[in-house]
Amino acid sequence: MRKVLILALLLCGSAFMAVSQEVDRDRSKYAVNNFADNDIYTMYEPYATVKVNEPDGRKVKNIILMIGDGMGLEQISAAWVCNGGSLNLDNFSKIGIQRTYSANKLVTDSAAAGTALATGHKTNNGMISMNPDSVAVKSLAEEAMEKGKRAGAAVTCRVNDATPSVFFSHSSTRKNQEDIVAQMASSGVYFLSGGGIKYWNDREDGRDITAEIQEKGYSFASTKEELMAVEEGPVVALMAPTELPFALDRDGILPSSVEKALQLLDNKKGFFLMVEGSMIDDGGHDNKAGHTMEEIFDFDRTIGKVLEWAEKDGQTLVIVTGDHATGGMTLLSGSIDQKRIKVNFSTTGHNGICLPVYAWGPHSEDFVGVYENTELSDKIRKLIK
Ligand SMILES: [Zn+2]
Repeated sequence: MRKVLILALLLCGSAFMAVSQEVDRDRSKYAVNNFADNDIYTMYEPYATVKVNEPDGRKVKNIILMIGDGMGLEQISAAWVCNGGSLNLDNFSKIGIQRTYSANKLVTDSAAAGTALATGHKTNNGMISMNPDSVAVKSLAEEAMEKGKRAGAAVTCRVNDATPSVFFSHSSTRKNQEDIVAQMASSGVYFLSGGGIKYWNDREDGRDITAEIQEKGYSFASTKEELMAVEEGPVVALMAPTELPFALDRDGILPSSVEKALQLLDNKKGFFLMVEGSMIDDGGHDNKAGHTMEEIFDFDRTIGKVLEWAEKDGQTLVIVTGDHATGGMTLLSGSIDQKRIKVNFSTTGHNGICLPVYAWGPHSEDFVGVYENTELSDKIRKLIK
């Protein structure tokens, strides 16, 4: 905080800026700029990105699907500018485009988009891995577990929010939170990390599902430190009552959790891991450029960790995409040298643009082209063996 203030004074030389920082403490973390200007952001501490070589082999043993919730190409482009013209995403050379509309809406929500990505079925907004007739459809995680692989998810929202839910439960509505948690707990998930402990142990039905899973042999962690100390799966880590804190208050939980996930999931038969940068979406809904950027940086740092691991492994396919874009963000101006952007938001909701698909590793070339979000899921499913 002090560092941010000094920087603000040095760089802006404006007493007004410093005062506004102090009045608005939490938000000040997201911009050395006056945060009243939600449409501008300057990055003062860019991070180093990794450079990895894609393996030559053809075998896909592990699949890591990374979903930036609310992350469209505008958000990615803006983040690239803010980090001085570099992202870990730059390592990907096989790029596709996916269409995101749901069965009943041109502009999807995370439940329908997640269902499409997880199962290969378009459904109505709000539904969790069921088709529009409320028939359950099999997710990629379930497919992987059927084939003897381990499956997991690491997110920054509550683990029972739409995107993780679609991989480990089925419901006609995303609002059935307690039922979704009960299903996730008995799904066979090997690694699950995020927030939402209150849906597990402070329930209307009186169950304590954190106790139940421990009886079944799961390790349980309620803090990042506890999760880092776990040496054997299966594990469930619920590190906040509901959502985890925003990126700058999260102490790198996502990259650390994913490193732990890779350590625990790795086994002879391989694994399927879904990683979500869940709160890029929140920055879009709130129309805050700084918040959006910091969430993407956290997600991209995690991508860097994943790529370094996958490079060593040599049999891991990594896919990065979004479920929908949020905020109708437009990159209006800025400077790569000054790591600064000015953007416009045109909605506080989601928007309906197509999204990029980044593929890296064996069979990454399968993902080049223009296709439906459901076809992206089908392409991944073919590689789960
Ligand atoms: Zn959203």
